[in-house]
Amino acid sequence: MEGKIQHPIFLSRPYLDDEDIQAVVTVLKSGNLVQGKEVALLEEKINTLAGSNYASAVSNGTASLHLALIALGVKEGDEVIIPAFSYIATANVIELVGAAPVFVDIDLRTFNIDVSQIENKITSRTKCIMPVHEFGLCANMGEINRLANAYGLAVVEDAACAIGAKIGDQFAGTFGDFGSFSLHPRKSVTSGEGGIVISKTKEFDDKIKTLRNHGIKPGSFPMEFVEAGFNYRLTDFQAALVSSQMRRLPSIFKHKEILVDFYLKSLRTDILMLPSVPEGYTHSWQTFHVVCQNEETRNQLILWLKEHQIFCNYGAQCIPAMTFYRNKYQFESQIQFPSAFKAYSCGLALPLSETLTMQEVSYVCDVINQFK
Ligand SMILES: *Cc1c(COP(=O)(O)O)cnc(C)c1O
Repeated sequence: MEGKIQHPIFLSRPYLDDEDIQAVVTVLKSGNLVQGKEVALLEEKINTLAGSNYASAVSNGTASLHLALIALGVKEGDEVIIPAFSYIATANVIELVGAAPVFVDIDLRTFNIDVSQIENKITSRTKCIMPVHEFGLCANMGEINRLANAYGLAVVEDAACAIGAKIGDQFAGTFGDFGSFSLHPRKSVTSGEGGIVISKTKEFDDKIKTLRNHGIKPGSFPMEFVEAGFNYRLTDFQAALVSSQMRRLPSIFKHKEILVDFYLKSLRTDILMLPSVPEGYTHSWQTFHVVCQNEETRNQLILWLKEHQIFCNYGAQCIPAMTFYRNKYQFESQIQFPSAFKAYSCGLALPLSETLTMQEVSYVCDVINQFK
């Protein structure tokens, strides 16, 4: 927790210790580079952490969402319900299978899908609800699963940022038919590029394992090609890198929680709306995200922070306002998705990472509190 201030202060920097690096070197020297023993070991580790039975490692978090939708048979003419505020990949994978994203506004207190607005968006074409656990806070999965059961819909959790997040004792990724994690360097543990799909059933997991590896039926010998699959494999050295970092997950979460507590009690609330965590939820704090009064203030605050060697950025997009979606569906986001638009146009992610020190967070708070 000690340490001096190192300028500039970045939003986030991946940290790898010597043991993590050695784990990669060992695999590089072994001669087995692609999906093998280390990938299987990582999948076991994820199952142990999340309390799930079926995990499959894939090449990135977008691939994992893509495979989940294909495994569910989501296709042209279908609709998938997602929050209007997320990383763009959440919507892109729906377009990639030929289906249409149906956006629902968010609750500004949690940045997650507003469950009270989902039912209105369900049609005879709806196949799936894909909630996002934004910034590492679980969406209201009790209510989402209730609606999915009532209307016979599948549920895919975009848990890209939420490895280790919980509602009560249940882990993110285990509420839906599928749960998808990303292992990008902006997430809690990283393989550079990587992803994980948790499947509810063995049948679904077999399908994922087949599709990620050229359609080869897992364990078949001679190889049986039962699907037109992808190459969405993770390498063994990437898997070893993640397995090694997973030793530190409890301490990463603890460290971030201490820093977040400091932010929450130190930041001025006259110009910033601070995030809140609903009772019973465990946030994994992939991102600490605040909302300014207006876009002008947010943009000036970014410049003010930059002048003080603190580099911050937007947290996520109001997806229907992005060029492709705005043009294709003629959305008027400011009117149709006011909270998502506000989170996008006035939101700001503040520095938070495993290596950020309390002194640095204290400095960030001082700089923000001096902003005029
Ligand atoms: C990071 C992220 C993704 C994409 O993951 P990649 O590993 O970068 O492909 C998808 N959805 C959300 C919500 C994300 O934050």
